[in-house]
Amino acid sequence: MTRRKDEHSTESNDLRRALEKAGWRFTRQRAEVYAHLRTVDSHPSAEEVYSAVRQRIPNISLATVYNALDALVDAGLAARLADDDGGPIRYDGKAHPHYHLRCQRTGQVHDLDVPYDPTLLRRLAPELVEQLRQKGFEVLGHRLEILGHFRDSNS
Ligand SMILES: [Zn+2]
Repeated sequence: MTRRKDEHSTESNDLRRALEKAGWRFTRQRAEVYAHLRTVDSHPSAEEVYSAVRQRIPNISLATVYNALDALVDAGLAARLADDDGGPIRYDGKAHPHYHLRCQRTGQVHDLDVPYDPTLLRRLAPELVEQLRQKGFEVLGHRLEILGHFRDSNS
């Protein structure tokens, strides 16, 4: 994928601003980790990010990648996706709310190609949000993950 230069520098300025607002320094390592997360749809583990980014920054360490991922998550630029089955934590570079499909055989997580629906909770249970508010819980959003496996996934 080719990008125009000005487009790229706007993106790094946004990244710099978001990191600094959360109290983190902008570094080339963090920029490369973010750029990688933004371009893949695979929700990679830290190790997968490490092996991809190492092709561009050969001397980067796994600890630096973990640190960069922490910074990006803390700054709200990426999300951690835990695996209940003990698989590795995966990272998502898409900040906007969206839904996931998880293959329970391979642990792979894919984005679902349907728009996020802010009215879903209301349709699930019309009184739910209000009931939770009365208990002191402020609803800010929801997550949806569809579980299953691909018929031909044999790993
Ligand atoms: Zn995602």
